[in-house]
Amino acid sequence: MSRPRIVIVGAGFAGYRTARALSRMSRGKADITVLNPTDYFLYLPLLPQVAAGILEPRRVAVSLSATLRRVRLVLGEAHGIDMDARTVRYTDPEGGEGTLAYDRLVLAVGSVNKLLPIPGVAEHAHGFRGLPEALYLRDHVTRQIELAAATDDPETCTARCTFVVVGAGYTGTEVAAHGKMFTDSLVRKHPLREGMRPRWMLLDIAPRVLPEMDERLSDTADRVLRQRGVEVRMGTSVKEATHDGVLLTDGEFVHTRSLVWCVGVRPDPLVENTGQPLERGRLVVDPFLQVPGRPEVFACGDAAAVPDLDNPGGFTPMTAQHAWRQGKVAAVNVAASCGVGERRPYRHRDLGFVVDLGGTQAAADPLGIPLSGPVAGAVTRGYHLAAMPGNRVRVAADWLLDAVLPRQSVQLGLVRSWSVPLDTASPELARVPGRPEGRKGADEAADEGITGIIDTTEKAQTAGAEPAPRRPGPEPARNQPGGEPAKSQPGGEPARNQPGGEPAKSQPGGEPARNQPGREPAKGRPGAGGAGKKKSAAGRRGAHPAPGPVKRDDTSAEGD
Ligand SMILES: Cc1cc2nc3c(=O)[nH]c(=O)nc-3n(C[C@H](O)[C@H](O)[C@H](O)COP(=O)(O)OP(=O)(O)OC[C@H]3O[C@@H](n4cnc5c(N)ncnc54)[C@H](O)[C@@H]3O)c2cc1C
Repeated sequence: MSRPRIVIVGAGFAGYRTARALSRMSRGKADITVLNPTDYFLYLPLLPQVAAGILEPRRVAVSLSATLRRVRLVLGEAHGIDMDARTVRYTDPEGGEGTLAYDRLVLAVGSVNKLLPIPGVAEHAHGFRGLPEALYLRDHVTRQIELAAATDDPETCTARCTFVVVGAGYTGTEVAAHGKMFTDSLVRKHPLREGMRPRWMLLDIAPRVLPEMDERLSDTADRVLRQRGVEVRMGTSVKEATHDGVLLTDGEFVHTRSLVWCVGVRPDPLVENTGQPLERGRLVVDPFLQVPGRPEVFACGDAAAVPDLDNPGGFTPMTAQHAWRQGKVAAVNVAASCGVGERRPYRHRDLGFVVDLGGTQAAADPLGIPLSGPVAGAVTRGYHLAAMPGNRVRVAADWLLDAVLPRQSVQLGLVRSWSVPLDTASPELARVPGRPEGRKGADEAADEGITGIIDTTEKAQTAGAEPAPRRPGPEPARNQPGGEPAKSQPGGEPARNQPGGEPAKSQPGGEPARNQPGREPAKGRPGAGGAGKKKSAAGRRGAHPAPGPVKRDDTSAEGD
């Protein structure tokens, strides 16, 4: 092979690292193409700081073209992979169709919000997996405080000032910790009725916060959250989400307009469509990150089930540090498969975790040494600066400004609730009316009601079996160009927050899934566990003559 064509799908932690390492190794002797829906690498661990108004959104978005030299960037989203023909089909941001031919393929498409079959959640909650959701949350929280300060009705004020975060992994914990500080700063400018304070609740069915981490980190996070005034309710989750609030599993009804869903993530649905064996929705690879029987195809990051050689029979967790290091190994092994260097298996021990709790507080255990307080805060921020592949000075400048200036309490309202549905295969993109159709969210079950929106990973966990392949379902008639968003949501919940409608509820989440309660999915429902549906290019164009910049066809949520 004179000049191998290497296509990398996804430019997150795994894909970005693969591209960067390969471009350095190949020195122009290979055609390296990155296919990604956005022109930036998103540094997800700092997303809670975007939602809390500490960092401006572009700080966590590292330009691909500016930092990946000798790599061709193709803007678009893969929707079909033909492993026999060795091609990737994709849709570009304006609805155009394209095909990339490859000699080597690296699949690094990451993960999306995880849904559980809890009534009302898909309609009233928002996830926390992408920049649009973080921007939405920042605006939504600001708006709720402003509206609460202006209302004469104490009940409305209470509901608007109550924020419920479900899932106490690192995402939910950081969102609640930063969120409380953010709203406390907002009410200094918009004082609430006498005696009223913003209320933040952090729920998880697990017995402790940060359930997957060292107990000492949990203790630190728990203490900081409680001291700050966050209600930490472990062993509790949401039984039902409604227009007016959430019914908790302990029977309490909490009036709120804000439900942030951080219960976990599931692999991007694209990998299901490859027809290759999956492990809980992740593409099975060998220790060399190669797909068995397809030596030219590699996968890494959240979307790949990478054997954990230190824990035989297990798979590496869905974390940035694994994805980042797997990206490097994928690059080495792709090069080796082209005759350059030796391939090597992926093996990596956790180097510890850092959880930013806002202000000077953090919980960290670098190299297993538990830290708390300002020391942990300094280590955490230092770690993030070192780990970011760009924008470091800008991030540090924002931190400095935040330390000396009050937070900016303005909401631009550019990202509406309906444009960041919880059930989406594209959390990195905000929906806009008139966009071309693309991949769907958890299922085609948008019209089937909440019981139809079933996470295949969860089902597989429950059944102890591999997730069933998804079935195509009917196209939901939502957000068509020129059309009205749905007036009512599946499951009988009246639609709120549509453009021109009532104000919103809910909010954002991430992480490998944990044990949240959920009803057993309705058996035999169309769309249950079905695969992401793809339409032909013609069909797509025909349905959307004036495509906008967002491609995927997702379940509609509610708009502000
Ligand atoms: C809010 C939040 C905070 C987190 N904090 C931490 C932390 O502190 N520490 C930690 O270790 N982990 C953390 N994680 C988890 C970590 O971010 C993920 O494990 C990591 O991003 C996985 O890397 P990846 O490359 O597999 O996926 P991603 O980084 O998500 O990248 C996937 C890329 O693929 C692209 N893509 C998706 N579908 C397609 C398609 N069809 N075609 C083309 N491109 C596509 C996406 O746009 C994206 O650019 C956090 C996650 C979240 C959501």
